[in-house]
Amino acid sequence: MSTPTQYVYEFAEGGREMAALLGGKGAGLAEMTRLGLPVPPGFTVTTEACRVYLETGQEPPELGVEVAHALANLERAMGRDLGRADDPLLVSVRSGARFSMPGMMDTILDIGLNDDSVAGLAKASGRERFAWDSYRRLLQMFGHSVMGVDAGLFERVVGAHKTVLSVTDDHALDAEELAHVVEEFKGVIRRETGEEFPQDPFEQLYRAIRAVFGSWNSERARVYRRREHIPDDLGTAVNMQAMVFGNLGPDSGTGVAFTRDPATGERGMYGDYLPDAQGEDVVAGVRNAVPLAELEHLDPRAYEQLGDHLRTLEAHYRDLCDVEFTVERGRLWILQTRVGKRTAEAAFRIAHELDEAGTITSDEALARVDGTELTRLMFPRFATRTSDVPLAHGVPASPGAAVGAVVFDSEAAVRRAADGQHTVLVRRETTPEDLPGMIAAQAVLTSRGGKTSHAAVVARGMGKVCVCGADALVIDSAARQFTTPAGAVVREGDTVSVDGTAGTVYLGTVPLTASEVSGPLETGTATGPLTRAVLGLLDHADSVRRLEVRANADTPKDAARARRLGAQGIGLCRTEHMFLGDRRALVEAMILARDDTAREAALAALLPLQREDFTGILKAMDGLPVTIRLLDPPLHEFLPDRTDLAVRIASTAHPDPHDRELLTAVERMHEQNPMLGLRGVRLGLAVPGLVAMQVRAVAEAVAQRLRDGGRPRAEIMIPLVGTVEELRLARAEAERVLAKVAMETGTTLDCPIGTMIELPRAALTAGRIAEVADFFSFGTNDLTQTTWGLSRDDAEASFFPLYLEKGVFTASPFETLDQEGVGRLVELAVEAGRAVDPRLETGVCGEHGGDPESIHFFHRAGLDYVSCSPFRIPAARLEAGRAAL
Ligand code: ADP
Ligand code: MG
Ligand code: MG
Repeated sequence: MSTPTQYVYEFAEGGREMAALLGGKGAGLAEMTRLGLPVPPGFTVTTEACRVYLETGQEPPELGVEVAHALANLERAMGRDLGRADDPLLVSVRSGARFSMPGMMDTILDIGLNDDSVAGLAKASGRERFAWDSYRRLLQMFGHSVMGVDAGLFERVVGAHKTVLSVTDDHALDAEELAHVVEEFKGVIRRETGEEFPQDPFEQLYRAIRAVFGSWNSERARVYRRREHIPDDLGTAVNMQAMVFGNLGPDSGTGVAFTRDPATGERGMYGDYLPDAQGEDVVAGVRNAVPLAELEHLDPRAYEQLGDHLRTLEAHYRDLCDVEFTVERGRLWILQTRVGKRTAEAAFRIAHELDEAGTITSDEALARVDGTELTRLMFPRFATRTSDVPLAHGVPASPGAAVGAVVFDSEAAVRRAADGQHTVLVRRETTPEDLPGMIAAQAVLTSRGGKTSHAAVVARGMGKVCVCGADALVIDSAARQFTTPAGAVVREGDTVSVDGTAGTVYLGTVPLTASEVSGPLETGTATGPLTRAVLGLLDHADSVRRLEVRANADTPKDAARARRLGAQGIGLCRTEHMFLGDRRALVEAMILARDDTAREAALAALLPLQREDFTGILKAMDGLPVTIRLLDPPLHEFLPDRTDLAVRIASTAHPDPHDRELLTAVERMHEQNPMLGLRGVRLGLAVPGLVAMQVRAVAEAVAQRLRDGGRPRAEIMIPLVGTVEELRLARAEAERVLAKVAMETGTTLDCPIGTMIELPRAALTAGRIAEVADFFSFGTNDLTQTTWGLSRDDAEASFFPLYLEKGVFTASPFETLDQEGVGRLVELAVEAGRAVDPRLETGVCGEHGGDPESIHFFHRAGLDYVSCSPFRIPAARLEAGRAAL
């Protein structure tokens, strides 16, 4: 026979290890009881009982007996009986789930009061007003939470009494007045429910328990759980606890306290105190609380005891704790504790300082912080006031804060930047053509696209602030203005403030606070407690991680910055960014070339420019690997827009013959599905001389660096390979050029040639590809796009919100790797590749390389490195360390 399930635990029976069963609050109360802290006695009904109730609509049959038994023990311990007429025991009935859901579920105080016991309470406490006030509170909470009466109806009654007496504070209502309020409250309940307020204390208790069970499924609780990713089937525990009273006069009160400042992590007691009040008043903001330090003057003994208890709790939980406490006529009671929530800043400081104090290990400290928090700390923040109302909300695509004048095209941004002006580039969406403007602007704002739209990816890569998909904005680039949903018109030159962390845009200048950590992350020198903590924890992450962290960077400047931030090389150097700006004319010439001679001339003109780019990057990354990807995007991206061209030609009597020629080329190259079209290795094989020129530029740059005494480590990467044959062809050409340059320059060129794995076919045939590749780099953006068969440029703006809402996705697969599908392909390819070449180097260079959750997956999949935007490197180092714990 199995032992019967126990549904009720007295506080003395439980402990913190039982949080799943007793809820966080119940486990905390039990743990404090065990530690000998002054906790009003009580007992907990388990989450299991709640689950039974939610599934069957009835509590388990044994529950009644168990509650009665625990209640009898409580009554004995307190020397009073629940609701007894002359000196009643009152209890609170408190919700408390496994994970903290502050204020989301119900709690009912002062259970046990009725028309008789209210007089008993008055007599026993010697405070008549207090007794009536407590009864009034019970009716209000019970009426609302248990009987479903609109809370506003009660407030209206109290309001009316205050108006009649011309007072504003509840405290001004005396006992007699409150007795009237009580009668009216009963009337409200009767009218609204057709039922009397139950006078029987036991009925009050059981109905309150059921109501707390039921509040698990309240609308706000469900919404909160969805947002916080808390499972829906856990249920809540219910805690019954003897009431203590903070509203017995000036020698009483209630408050919350933290063992450290949860905003900054600063050591020392911190919190708020409200004299002569009950706990729920603090939350409700009925009156203004005073800083906890005041309690030292009001009641030095209680203050000192509170300090002792906080120290005990922090030492015991080995973390920041917060407590709810009440002082009843000079006697201190602790009503709740938990490991407290904190800001990113506080998280780093507390973890590091507890580590330094020897309270926790360095591994534990590292586990308590995360990359998302670190990234947040790296950007300047807006000191927004509550009065600042955003013009619009969009997707927080690239964090940080920026202020600038609105511009509607790239040229305007460049022009104003030349005058030293800060700008915000506002576009419906961006294309590679907007790149100069994105570089010149402080922030990018678009009305279309999600976190992996062109604007978002490029902005993140540059560490530039970006809000995208602010779809309520109507952007009229031609008229040089945009309109907000509220009807405001913002014109070119108007100042806006863009918050890329929150995804909001404000009109005018919101003041900025600089990031305290971004400088020290680059210099490696701490400037205060926060930066000491950040650098200390990163150090530890570096010492434990197996994954290397490289950067996606295409300029010497980005490469140098990435290196200062801890990059161990470049995992992705995109060459297409080197084909923009002044060089477009040359690229156009290459595309338009009618014969080999013309094409060769255009390529020859590009060669020295590319070589200079590579030399600079190899210099910045001297001694570290630099993976250079050959040209990847469809060529038409380097040509003007088809419609623009056609309009330009149609609108003049004597169109420029060059324009006509361009238009023919654009039309010839037009593709319905460019992302599945002539790009990547296909382009290299289709455009004679392109691969040769790029490889020659790399080879000559390496030779140059060798001559200069450097240690260049270039690697050549062929994109979008689907079959080993493509790689074989491209590789043969590359090797030919490498050999030639080696001979010409008299140097030994050791330049590995590898491929991107970014098509399902490549992943599925990785074994064959590994025979020809020196390394694999997973291009998880394209791999996600091609595995799911969805276009990231379109899907995010169209059905992603629906899919997220319906739970088809829990996160965008372009942000966090789809481990089940795309991740499976990565694993297959790593395995097959390593079977052929056990030393095959593998890495990832998609957006996922900087995503915390994905990094943990890549660690498990056994990759050698992740590569990400420079500004995400510190977070990636931290997460790679955490993955190795
Ligand atoms: P929440 O989870 O929303 O914080 P609680 O169960 O903690 O709800 O209760 C709400 C308020 O009532 C808190 O301020 C708490 O301290 C106070 N409270 C709960 N139980 C008692 C009690 N037995 N005596 C005095 N105050 C109590
Ligand atoms: Mg609480
Ligand atoms: Mg790709």
